[in-house]
Amino acid sequence: MIHTGRHFLQIPGPTNVPDRVLRAMDYPVIDHRSAEFASLGAEVLDGVRKIFQTASPVVMYPASGTGAWEAALVNTLSAGDRVLLFETGHFSQLWRQVAEKFGIKVDYVPGSWRKGASADELSARLAADKDHSIKAVLVVHNETSTGVTSRIPELRRSMNQTHHPALLMVDTISSLASIDYRHDEWGVDVTIAGSQKGLMLPPGMSFNAISDKALAATAKASLPRAYWDWQEMLKPNRTGFFPYTPPTNLLYGLREAMRMLQEEGLSNVFKRHDRHAEAMRAAVRAWGLEIVCEDPREYSSSLTAVFLPEGHDADKLRAVILENFDMSLGAGLSKLAGKVFRIGHLGSFNDLTLAGTLCGVEMGLRLAGVPHKEGGVLAALNSLAPAGRKVEPAPMGR
Ligand code: PLP
Repeated sequence: MIHTGRHFLQIPGPTNVPDRVLRAMDYPVIDHRSAEFASLGAEVLDGVRKIFQTASPVVMYPASGTGAWEAALVNTLSAGDRVLLFETGHFSQLWRQVAEKFGIKVDYVPGSWRKGASADELSARLAADKDHSIKAVLVVHNETSTGVTSRIPELRRSMNQTHHPALLMVDTISSLASIDYRHDEWGVDVTIAGSQKGLMLPPGMSFNAISDKALAATAKASLPRAYWDWQEMLKPNRTGFFPYTPPTNLLYGLREAMRMLQEEGLSNVFKRHDRHAEAMRAAVRAWGLEIVCEDPREYSSSLTAVFLPEGHDADKLRAVILENFDMSLGAGLSKLAGKVFRIGHLGSFNDLTLAGTLCGVEMGLRLAGVPHKEGGVLAALNSLAPAGRKVEPAPMGR
């Protein structure tokens, strides 16, 4: 089938890259040892800290998010160290595999994939760890496979109340710049992030925000590290440079994306995501379908994962939607494969992108013969623009 118009990339990342960012990257590569580069490097290294809401250093790797997971571990831990990692879904599972490959002992706290990390469970486990053998607590803030957002401040409170000295490491790959997140205020030691979701950039760059405590842990951490070594990175970063060839054009893009986020205001960016997520859920409920996330306090504002009724294949629905409407939706991952589809509503996204996305899903449900009630799109429109009420114009996110 020949498709006209623009492809709808509504997976929960990589997300649509705004034209402004694409244009900013369409620029000659410059000498990465020049004064011109140093000024770009210094600007982005300093500016990006605002997005993490931290005064601490943020290092940037030319790597996908998996690299930043590895960096967080190898800089702070030694083989044989014990860490606590909450099973939230597919991505917690992958992070666990990375840790185990380095000989880190992972206490994997079982979870149903429908709820976030439990602060009560964390308190109990830390209180039982009298000799402080747990060196770090690892949490995926927004589990991209399920659309469940863990409540980091509550987890931090548990750590403080039990006076446990473990480091807190948080994966914000699908939440940074979409869902409220505060590295300093929430007492996080290492925040892991990627370029390809809320930051509205192409894939290829990832980040670690590093607290003083995490930086101090590098002195004792004996896991081998070369490419990921924070100390090697931080030295040239002080003057705007990198220890190896930086992803120059992604940095141009990052500078532009940061300007866009600044213009909109981070708190408005979060509100926009919350509002769109609410409208998405209104549609799903009206269809009579089930949202994977069970606890409304943990609904994700960057994506919604939806169960299909028993006996219906979510991958078939996605294929019908792609074929007929040129829209990509996220697949169910590992144990949710075929059972769930995921709608990404993060990054460069507005009311009409939402309406178009939901129209594609609703038409797809019809064509694929998935039993559902009519009126999901209408429910979302009512949520976005209730009749007779003046609505604040949505920022265009362009
Ligand atoms: N963590 C989360 C929450 C993710 O969503 C992803 C990817 O989607 C990753 C980690 C892995 O990142 P990458 O695929 O960029 O290596």
